[in-house]
Amino acid sequence: MDTQITLPTFDVERVRADFPILSRTVHERKGKPGKPLVYLDSAASAQKPRQVIDAMTRFLEEDYSNIHRGVHFLSQTATDQFEEARRKVARFLNAPSERNIVFTRSATEAVNLVAHSYGRTFLSEGDEIIVSVMEHHANIVPWQLLQMDKGIRIRVVPVDEHGVLDLNAFEDLLSDRTKLVAMTHCSNVLGTVTPAKIIARMAHERGVPVLFDGSQAAVHGVVDVQDIDADFYIMTGHKLYGPTGTGVLYGKYDLLKKMPPYQGGGDMIESVSFEGTTFKAPPARFEAGTPAITEVIGLGVALDYMESLGREAIAAHEHDLLQYATQQLSQVDGLRVYGTAPGKGPIISFTLEGVHPHDLGTIVDQYGVAVRVGRHCAEPLMERFGVGATARASFALYNTRAEADALVESVIAVKEFFGA
Ligand SMILES: *Cc1c(COP(=O)(O)O)cnc(C)c1O
Repeated sequence: MDTQITLPTFDVERVRADFPILSRTVHERKGKPGKPLVYLDSAASAQKPRQVIDAMTRFLEEDYSNIHRGVHFLSQTATDQFEEARRKVARFLNAPSERNIVFTRSATEAVNLVAHSYGRTFLSEGDEIIVSVMEHHANIVPWQLLQMDKGIRIRVVPVDEHGVLDLNAFEDLLSDRTKLVAMTHCSNVLGTVTPAKIIARMAHERGVPVLFDGSQAAVHGVVDVQDIDADFYIMTGHKLYGPTGTGVLYGKYDLLKKMPPYQGGGDMIESVSFEGTTFKAPPARFEAGTPAITEVIGLGVALDYMESLGREAIAAHEHDLLQYATQQLSQVDGLRVYGTAPGKGPIISFTLEGVHPHDLGTIVDQYGVAVRVGRHCAEPLMERFGVGATARASFALYNTRAEADALVESVIAVKEFFGA
């Protein structure tokens, strides 16, 4: 992609004006003004634009009601808006139909849904699931629960020192025992984007379905589930500038159709009797109980917002920030970046020699700079790189080069503080 052509059309100051929280300051003290917020923790959760906040407020003030069950006016209009959000998600992922889209509470719940419903039905003792060493715990622990239950094995694809997935090792791990590949599409620590289309093709050659954890990939790039040929694809709404309490499971319909319910309750049944209960077709089969109605509608508006800016333009802007920030940070003596895969997402994990990441995070916060520190829900990866913790700066569509400078200045201040 030619960033020179795309960049001038992306007016980051105008974009920032859409996010009320970005104009606040932090750490104001009596008589002393606060520091402007430099929010570099969007990989943990992204801020929300006015459009999303307003849409949710408007829905609550004017149209709110429960969905799917009512014949009255409000219930029907609320249902229409909820189902419209499903169509928006389908378009966002280029899914063949909105019937492929299941709403969950989070990415975590989406993985658990597949592990419970698909995993417990179609996997048995001795079967293998292949994951990578850079998975978020959300794409590890549900499989470990399945392991305890069913006696399956979890095989792990390594990464090299740059954080690039070892495709040869993946090829070697694929066997007749492999029953599922569950792989991140973008690492929340290293930023590594995995070659989803190639992974899917290699797995499909052996008839193995593939689940991608797109929690980070979907926000930084254009995802086309049909082009990838993903069997399952997972997103989390709050990292897509939408509200918490919203997650997405995309599934190929023939797979969803043969999967039993994950949870039982209202809205997922055809009929209930004590002699036997019949279930609705997907996606309703997997949406027991009242969903996060307002929030799902908010998520739809968040996706509209991203589309209105242009997802290619967002990606180009973030790529520029990644390159600039990486270049500036690498001039700091003793700073080490983890994850240097080509084509990576705008996530920079780093350590500073002689300084604990928690101390670094606490001090840069005094300068208004919000970064994440710790293990980032990816302990096996931390072990792979032999670090207890890192600091992580993650960039979003509303960040600026000036904010990257603020990060570097605050890191230099940390260095001076510790004499490191
Ligand atoms: C954040 C994240 C998750 C979990 O998302 P939740 O919203 O907490 O369920 C899973 N995988 C990756 C790669 C993530 O970044």
